[in-house]
Amino acid sequence: AIKATGVHKAYGSLHVLKGVDLTVMPGTVTVILGPSGSGKSTFLRLINQLETLTGGEIDVNGEMIGYKPVERGGQRVLQTLNDKEVAAQRAKLGMVFQRFNLFPHMTALENVMEAPVHVKHVHKREARELAVAELQRVGLGDRLDYYPSQLSGGQQQRVAIARALAMKPEIMLFDEPTSALDPELVGEVLGVMRSLAQDGMTMVCVTHEIGFAREVADQVVFMDGGVVVEKGGPEIIANPTEPRFKDFLRHVL
Ligand code: ATP
Ligand code: MG
Repeated sequence: AIKATGVHKAYGSLHVLKGVDLTVMPGTVTVILGPSGSGKSTFLRLINQLETLTGGEIDVNGEMIGYKPVERGGQRVLQTLNDKEVAAQRAKLGMVFQRFNLFPHMTALENVMEAPVHVKHVHKREARELAVAELQRVGLGDRLDYYPSQLSGGQQQRVAIARALAMKPEIMLFDEPTSALDPELVGEVLGVMRSLAQDGMTMVCVTHEIGFAREVADQVVFMDGGVVVEKGGPEIIANPTEPRFKDFLRHVL
C-alpha cells in the first residue's frame, strides 16, 4: 500500500504540492488525472524518492520513505536514511516514464537484464531467464535480440515495462506511459498494463487515457493546482462533482 499524508513539495518559492492525501490499497489500480502542471509527475517522483518532500509523509508498504524512527535520548526522532537504505526502499517500486530511456547500444534482452545483474547481482544465467520471461509477458518473446532503434515506440515502451518488472517491484508507477506514442501503438501498452492489473499488481498511473481509467482503475484521482480536487471509484468519470473536474473531462473526452 501507499499512504500519502499532507504531502507538500516546493521548488524554492514555487509551491507545487499543497497537502496531498492519498491511499493506494495493495492489488489496486489508481489513475491520476489532471491538467498540465498540476503536480502529477512530482507526486510520483516523490513516491519513488527522485525528489524529497518538503512536508508531510509517504509510507510504502508500512515503511516511511526517506526516514526511519530512532531512539535518541529517550525520544523518538526521525533520521534521514542513507543511500543504501533509500536504494532498498526504491527497489520496491518500478517506474515507467513517458520516454522509454532504453540503453540504445543494448538489445531488448540486455536492457531488461541490466538492473538485475548490476544492481541486484543476480547471476547472468538467472537474469537472462528472468528477462526472457518478462519480455514474453509483455508480448516481446520474439524480439529479444532487437535493439531499441529496431523496435516501434510501443515495443520500446513494453521493453521499459519488462525492465521495471525484472526487478520484481511490489508497486508500479506509470507516468504518462503512452503519451509519446503514435495513436495506433497506445493500445498495446495499455493492454500490457491491463494484464498487469489483472495479475494483481499495485499500480499508480498518471494518464490521459480516460477509457483505461474507466475500465481498469479501482480509484480515480483528479489533481489540480497541487491538491486532490476529487477522488472516488471510476464512476466519478461519468458523474463528476467538482466543477474543475467537470471542466477537465469536457476538454479530454
Ligand atoms: P504534465 O501533465 O505537463 O506532465 P504534471 O501534472 O506532471 O504536468 P509536474 O511535472 O509535477 O506537473 O509539475 C508541477 C509544477 O512543478 C510545474 O509548474 C513545473 O514547472 C514545476 N516543476 C516540476 N519539476 C520542477 C523542478 N525540478 N524545478 C522547478 N519546478 C519544477
Ligand atoms: Mg507530468
